Amino acid sequence: MASPDATAGGGRMSLTAKILIAMGGGIVTGLILNAIDLGFLNSLLVDGLFTMIGTIFMNALKMLVVPLVIFSLICGVAGIGDIGALGRVGGKSLVLYIATTALAIMMAIGVSLIIGPGSGFEMSGVEVGSVAGKEAPSAWSVIADIVPSNPIAAAANGQMLQIIFYVIVLAVAALMLGDISKPFLQGCEYMNELMMKIVEIVMHFAPYGVFCLIAKVFAQEGLVVFLPVLGYVSSLVLALVLHCFVVLMIIFKATSGLSPVTFLKKMWPTQVFAFSTASSSATIPVNYRNVTERMGADQSVASFTIPFGATINMDGTAIMQGVATVFIANVYGVDLGVSGYLTVIGMAVLASIGTAGVPGVGMVMLTMVLGQVGLPLDGIAIILGVDRLMDMLRTAVNVTGDAMVTVVVAKTEGKLDIAKFNDPDAALESGHELDIDPEAEKRLADAVHPQGHSPAE
Ligand code: ASP
Repeated sequence: MASPDATAGGGRMSLTAKILIAMGGGIVTGLILNAIDLGFLNSLLVDGLFTMIGTIFMNALKMLVVPLVIFSLICGVAGIGDIGALGRVGGKSLVLYIATTALAIMMAIGVSLIIGPGSGFEMSGVEVGSVAGKEAPSAWSVIADIVPSNPIAAAANGQMLQIIFYVIVLAVAALMLGDISKPFLQGCEYMNELMMKIVEIVMHFAPYGVFCLIAKVFAQEGLVVFLPVLGYVSSLVLALVLHCFVVLMIIFKATSGLSPVTFLKKMWPTQVFAFSTASSSATIPVNYRNVTERMGADQSVASFTIPFGATINMDGTAIMQGVATVFIANVYGVDLGVSGYLTVIGMAVLASIGTAGVPGVGMVMLTMVLGQVGLPLDGIAIILGVDRLMDMLRTAVNVTGDAMVTVVVAKTEGKLDIAKFNDPDAALESGHELDIDPEAEKRLADAVHPQGHSPAE
């Protein structure tokens, strides 16, 4: 099966190259539209065409998430072999996700304390009382909410932890039933294949979707919004880059022994998806496909760790909260002290477990963190203008953490195809994977409507 990197036959450009070009084209187009006021044409393009195509693309990705997670996880649990292994995968990924998130925010606080963004910031223009806070969830309620009272509602609302819990119970029960579950599991296997095919179809339109999503953001935001908060932005970008390319890669090398360079090269297309959608949840189908088909992680591990990570693991978001807290504390001249920063670390980790990876959720989490340490929520108004772009960047870091942990857990469980991981061309097969085979189509039609029976009969 082809991957996000799939190259069409006949030497045509790879999908990754197309997506990267779309990203660059989107940035340039957006900035041009932001700089030149073309009046009616601007709104026709940005609010009309780009928004419409971007929304279609986001919806197409999101429509895949719940069915893909359900069927791949059922197949994953059924294929894992023993229930003990399932517990180990869960335990290892939970520890790694929490540890990397905690490390991310500690590093972010350290970097910002050294750089000191926000000291001497001019508060004029900040609307007082414009930001409403949100209460932090308690650890008890986060845990209690994992068990859904209504699995259909959980699926309808995309409640990932509830879906994962329910599906694992379902799959384990199916295994307990033994042989009579065979048709059910075969059906799920088929549904999983079908979902992966739809991912492939949606991926073909990715360059257009990526272009429109990115062009829209840059046309609306421009670059001038960065100037007043350059200190915040540069500290944040530095911390994100350090975490993604240094901290995570040291952990990756130390725990798996695999090449970080190979990992990062294969991670590119997925990062671009996360960047353009600003949503770890919408990136689940792409990330799952990449780690299984390009990096060689077994489905039994990835079907659990990728959706689990998209929900509880948010290194980039935690980094934003660390940098933003130091920035806002500096703006208001508040010294949080060691206990204040420890509270920030604890809150950020807890908040990232309890909230789903969707655009803008990091800002909601920030209101919880600031409220807890007594910083004014109005500080958020200062950085709100640049948040969409920062959201895109931190989401790319979030999904990198999910993939890194998946490969590490798969490797330590003996569930990683190392040859596939090391093969730069893995799943880069050429072909016309979206073509329908006319022979197969005819066979299927004959099977559904046997000779001599028309569909109307
Ligand atoms: N957009 C981020 C994600 O989906 C969450 C956030 O930082 O707002 O992972």
